[in-house]
Amino acid sequence: MKLLEGKKALIFGIANKHSIAWGIAQAFHEHGAELGFSYGIPQLEKRVEPLAEELDVRFVEMCDVTKDEDIAAVFQKAADHFGQIDILVHSLAFAPQEELAGRFVETSRSGFALALDISAYSLVALVRAAEPLMPNGGSVVTMTYYGSEKVVPHYNVMGVAKAALEASVRYLAADLGPTGIRVNAISAGPIKTLAASGVAGFRKMLGYVGERAPLRRNVNQEEVGRTALWLCSDLGSGITGEVVYVDAGYHILGMPEPPEKWEQT
Ligand code: NAP
Repeated sequence: MKLLEGKKALIFGIANKHSIAWGIAQAFHEHGAELGFSYGIPQLEKRVEPLAEELDVRFVEMCDVTKDEDIAAVFQKAADHFGQIDILVHSLAFAPQEELAGRFVETSRSGFALALDISAYSLVALVRAAEPLMPNGGSVVTMTYYGSEKVVPHYNVMGVAKAALEASVRYLAADLGPTGIRVNAISAGPIKTLAASGVAGFRKMLGYVGERAPLRRNVNQEEVGRTALWLCSDLGSGITGEVVYVDAGYHILGMPEPPEKWEQT
């Protein structure tokens, strides 16, 4: 059974084959959705076009989410191309690399503002622009990380941005619920992507989590894609304002040491 037959989904945040948004796009395509892609910088066109072709995607548009005029333009084009949409995927974030190393207390005013603008405010702006295209309801999904709740080395200002993003999910869900639009976040465990490699010591993080998570491994883009599929299909029709963890269970641990290590002491 195809879960998204007849549905139209606009996906923001595909940079390459490693992007989480690509995992989501593949799952949606497999389940019959018609897709549109948006990418952030002109240099990415060459990388995104072949991916779009692979999934027979005809709508591929650039949009820098820090620019209101870009957002207005991409949604106008989406309205012309699709008429209405059913699903919006927000899978993007950014902080200057120097803010993702060293001590959080050193975060600059400009780095803080930029990280919050791209990584959190953009969800509000995109959802506002998408609302008129979802007159019959719809589903929005964004990507977050556990560093919003607990201190993770070097995640720094991105943790603060993800906390703002998760709070925005709840406020948006409350605003848009009466019109049948659901808004949820997926909190993914660490996955090797372009954005993730900007966090100092990211490889160490992968190893640490993979050794200690209850499933004793890391997760991948496909697993996040299937969760987005569930949330955005009718299977998730009763869920809004939630943060769903796809992290091999890591977030449930109070003392992240594998029991076998405790037994040795
Ligand atoms: P990715 O492939 O590098 O995707 C990040 C995307 O953000 C890129 O497509 C990038 O596009 C886009 N972006 C950055 N600034 C933008 C702007 N101003 N306007 C429009 N797009 C912009 O990395 P990813 O790991 O899949 O990240 C996707 C989401 O998952 C992010 O929210 C990230 O925080 C979240 N997440 C990742 C992990 C992980 O471990 N990988 C874990 C949990 C959550 P351009 O390069 O074109 O600007």
